[in-house]
Amino acid sequence: MPARIALIEDHPANLELMQYLLHHFGYVTLVATDGEQGLALVRRERPDLILCDLQLPLLDGYEVARQIKADAALRDIPLIAVTAFSMPGDSEKGLAAGFLAYFAKPIEPETFVAQIEQFLPPALRAAPAQ
Ligand code: MN
Repeated sequence: MPARIALIEDHPANLELMQYLLHHFGYVTLVATDGEQGLALVRRERPDLILCDLQLPLLDGYEVARQIKADAALRDIPLIAVTAFSMPGDSEKGLAAGFLAYFAKPIEPETFVAQIEQFLPPALRAAPAQ
């Protein structure tokens, strides 16, 4: 069964693109558009993977990551930052907050899903396109 992937992202066009690409490959997406909603979504749904923007209303992505990592029921869910931040040190700060990886926006439609899938166990990957 393909993974359920949480998208925590406040930018509509970016959210739409990620949803489009993931749905195209057969993944289920769960969406939140601010950090508080995102945390509530993750606690309620226990997704298989989380993609989280860093710059978010109410709680930023670093705080979302800290709270997920502080929760024993959630801390093993792979957590990936998807962000336009590109200041020196942002990547290190993201990794320190608990993000496994850091994808820079703009998203590359040709490679996005393949990059995401590296962080999913094989049983949760969508069937490869023939
Ligand atoms: Mn944002």
